Amino acid sequence: MNASDVVIVGAGHGGSQAAIVLRQLNFDGAITIVGDEPHLPYERPPLSKDYLAGDKTFERCLIRPAAFWTEQRITMRLGHRVAAVRPETRRLEFQDGGELNYGVLIWAAGGKPRMLACPGADFPEVHTVRDRADVDALVGQLGRGDRVVVVGGGFIGLEAAAVLTKLGKRVVVLEALDRLLPRVAGEGISRFYEAEHRAQGVDVRTDAAVECLEGRDGHLTGVRLKDGQVLPADLVIVGIGINPSVAPILAAGAVGDIGVEVDEACRTSLPNVYAIGDCAVQANPFAEGRRVRIESVQNATNQAGVATRHLMGLDGPSPAAPWFWSDQYDLKLQTVGLAAGYDATVLRGDPATRSFSVVYLRDGRVVALDCVNATRDYVQGRRLVELGLRIDPALLSDVEQPLKEFASGQAG
Ligand code: FAD
Repeated sequence: MNASDVVIVGAGHGGSQAAIVLRQLNFDGAITIVGDEPHLPYERPPLSKDYLAGDKTFERCLIRPAAFWTEQRITMRLGHRVAAVRPETRRLEFQDGGELNYGVLIWAAGGKPRMLACPGADFPEVHTVRDRADVDALVGQLGRGDRVVVVGGGFIGLEAAAVLTKLGKRVVVLEALDRLLPRVAGEGISRFYEAEHRAQGVDVRTDAAVECLEGRDGHLTGVRLKDGQVLPADLVIVGIGINPSVAPILAAGAVGDIGVEVDEACRTSLPNVYAIGDCAVQANPFAEGRRVRIESVQNATNQAGVATRHLMGLDGPSPAAPWFWSDQYDLKLQTVGLAAGYDATVLRGDPATRSFSVVYLRDGRVVALDCVNATRDYVQGRRLVELGLRIDPALLSDVEQPLKEFASGQAG
C-alpha cells in the first residue's frame, strides 16, 4: 500500500462520488471502495419513491454502470463490513476477518435506521427504508394485506405513505410531535402536507406515541398507541431517523458523538482520515457556523469534492447552500438553505394552487426556501440564500416579482 493510496469505507453517495472526483482530478494512486452491501453504488432517494412504487428498476438506480468502475481502476470490495480502524498502522479490519491497509482513508459510512425500542419491534413485518434490501423485503410483503402503519412523519415516512396510498393501501401515519416534518420544515409546510395526505386518504395522527407492536404466533397484528388505541396493521414502516455509522472510527479515537467531527476540509481528528456525508458533523456557514450533520445527496456529494480536493492539495469549492428535494404525489418540494433558527416566514403564492414557496428569514435575512411545485423560486432563491439578503417581506410575497430581481445589487 502506497501512502497516497485511498481507501473509502461506504459504497454510497459520498463514497462513490469521492472516487469519481479523485479520478476526474487525475489522481493516479489506487482507489478501493469497501461496502457492506453487496451492490455497486446506487441512489438512495428512489428507494422511497419510484423504486418502491415499482416504476424504476434497480439497474436504473445505479450511480454508474458496472464497467465504469473497472475502466476507472476503482476496486470494489463489496459485502465486507469494516469492524475496526487502526490508525497507528493505517489498517482496516473487516468483520469477516479480512484486513486492508490504507494510505488515506475516507469514512463515508452513512447511517443505519433507528429502530423502535418497544415490544414487538422485531416482528418480520416491521420494515425500515434505508437500503435496497429493506425495500425489497417490504415489497415482498405487500401482498400480506392492505393496512400499513408508518411510524414517523418525516420525509421518508411520508414518501413511503404517498407511494403505498397510490398502490391502494390504507395508510396511517403516526407522528410523535404535533406536526408532520417537525424537524425539517416550518409550520406552514407541515400543515400543507398534512392536509394533502389526508385528502389522499391517509389517516394522519400527530401527537401519537407508540406503546408497542402487537402480534400473534410471531407475526404482527397491530400497533398499540400510548393512549390505548390499537391500530390493526399488516405491515409497519419505521421512519424515525438514522444513527450515523461511526462506531469503528470513534473507537479508533476520532472525535465525535452524534457523528464524526470534521473540519472545513472534512478531516477528522485522526491523521490521514477524512469523513463525509450523513455520518459527518461539520460547522456550516448556512447554520450560523453551528456544527450540523446534514442528510442529503447534495451534502454527501459536496463533501466528497471538498475532501478529495484537499487530499490532492487543491483549494476546496466554496461552501454550497444545502439543498434537498422530496416527491410526494404530484408535489415536488425543493428546499434550499437551512431553516433552523428562522424567526419569520413569508408565503409566496397560494397553497391552494399547489404551487407556492415559503421563504424563511432570520434577523431579516433570507436563510432558506421551501418551494412546492415552484422550481423557478427554488432556482432563483438559491442566490438570495447564498448572499443572505435582507428583503422587504412585502416585496418577497409578491409572486409577480421574480426572486432573481432581488439578487442584483442588494447584498447586505
Ligand atoms: P450512504 O449513501 O448511506 O452510504 C453509506 C454506505 O456505507 C452504505 O452502503 C452502508 O451500508 C455502508 N456502510 C456503513 N457502515 C459500513 C462499514 N462499517 N463497512 C462498510 N460499509 C459500511 N437525499 C436527498 O437529497 N433527496 C432525497 O430525496 C432523498 N431521499 C432519500 C430517500 C431514502 C429512502 C433514503 C434512505 C435517503 C434519502 N436521501 C435523500 C438521503 C441521501 O440518500 C443520503 O443523505 C445519502 O445517501 C448520504 O450518502 P452517504 O454516502 O453519507 O451514505
